[in-house]
Order: sequence, then structure tokens, then C-alpha cells
Amino acid sequence: MRPINRIALGRAASSWLARQQAALDRDHALSAVHHWSARRQTMATNGVVFALRSMAGIRNRCMYCGDSEACDIEHFRPKGKPEWRANVFDWGNFLWICQPCNRLKNSVFPVMDDGWPMMLDPAIDRIWDFFDFSPETGYLVPISEVGTIAYMRAAATVSEGNSRLSYEVILGERQRAYRNLKRSAQIFFSSEQLEEDVEGFIQATLDSGYPELVEWAYSLRGREIHPFSSLSNDAIFVERLRSAMNNAYPGVW
Ligand SMILES: [Zn+2]
Repeated sequence: MRPINRIALGRAASSWLARQQAALDRDHALSAVHHWSARRQTMATNGVVFALRSMAGIRNRCMYCGDSEACDIEHFRPKGKPEWRANVFDWGNFLWICQPCNRLKNSVFPVMDDGWPMMLDPAIDRIWDFFDFSPETGYLVPISEVGTIAYMRAAATVSEGNSRLSYEVILGERQRAYRNLKRSAQIFFSSEQLEEDVEGFIQATLDSGYPELVEWAYSLRGREIHPFSSLSNDAIFVERLRSAMNNAYPGVW
């Protein structure tokens, strides 16, 4: 679950969505799921999917798990539930996710007593405001005090029944990405740190797998770990890395 920036949708696509939503609002007998399915294809060409893909960044990975390739529009607030009917064609409710996450998410969407979603929304909630990363296990570990709303939301988001974020395969991939990050940092640290070394380092870091881990490594707890600790002391270097990451994955850091 990496942070993403929601971009503004073009005017034509926005008004198309508004028209579809108005049809649902007008006719209460109209099935939201059917109305959506009948119009899903149009979104491949009218700018909606294009906007979501550009939000997803260079590797087109799922906005939830970050692991598999994204291929489908996800309704953060489920389209099949009557209480979210007003959000079926709501741009702010769309994410771009993979098939396994979509299958899982279809059935679950816990809410708090006041109706606010328990699940964290990658377009609104920033991963490192809620979690720490454990290099030893690959888990995302909630950082807030037990019993707080922030803790409950974080715990719900990584719960195995609600998302794939704690699945064994994803823990393994997250750890692999961490090792890749560490390796590229080590290679750069031991190099002469010439311009070509910086470029190679940035490319390797971009390729490391889970881009959200780069912020963790260079500006959060990873700074306690060598070689991130030494490299992160150079503010200009860190800013250059941050800028490259955000170019590739808008809003990630
Ligand atoms: Zn996914």
C-alpha cells in the first residue's frame, strides 16, 4: 500500500461519470452493479483508466498490495452495497488494483460506528503514518497505541481477511525488495560516488520492487541501519532520490 496522488480527471471523463451517477440517483430500481458493468468498457477509452494508470506509476502495480500487476478499477467503497450507491461513479472512489486483491476486497469493507471506512485508502492515508516496516519478518506493523482509531484502522488494513498485505508471498516479496534496496545502497556506498554511480544507484533503487520502502529506508527508521544511515545524511543526495521516486511513482514519498 504505497501513497498515491489522485490527479484531476479531464472534463469529458468527469462529466461522463456525473451523467452515469445521475442515472443511478434518478432510478432507484436500476442495479448499480449492472449499470457499472455495462459501462466498464467505456472507461478503458474515455480517460478514466488512463488517469488511474498514470497514478499507479511506472510498473503499473496494484495500489493495494503493490505486488501484482493492476488491471481493474476498484471501488474503494464497494459498488455492490446500497450504502455506497452514491459513490459508484465517483472518481475519488476509484483505485487501480490487481485481480487477486479485487476478488478478496469484493466481499469485505468494514466500517467504524460512524460509517467511516476502517480500511486505509492509499490515495488519502500515507502508509508510514500508520506502520513501521519489519525487515526481519516483512510485516507492516501498526505504530499507534492499541485501542486508538489509527491502530484499529491499520490493523484492519493488514488483517488477512481484509487484504493480501500480510500474505506470506507478499511478506517475502517485501523482504526481497528490502534486500535489493540495501544491496544497491551498499554498492553505491562502496563506490567512488561519481555521477555515473549515482545514476546507477537511483536506477537500481527505482527497480527494487516496493517503492514505498525507499522513504522508510532513507527518511524513517531505515536511517538507523547501515548503509542507509550514512547515505541519508546527505540532504542533497536524498532530495535527488526523492525526486526520482516521485517522478516514477507520483506521491510515493
Ligand atoms: Zn493487489
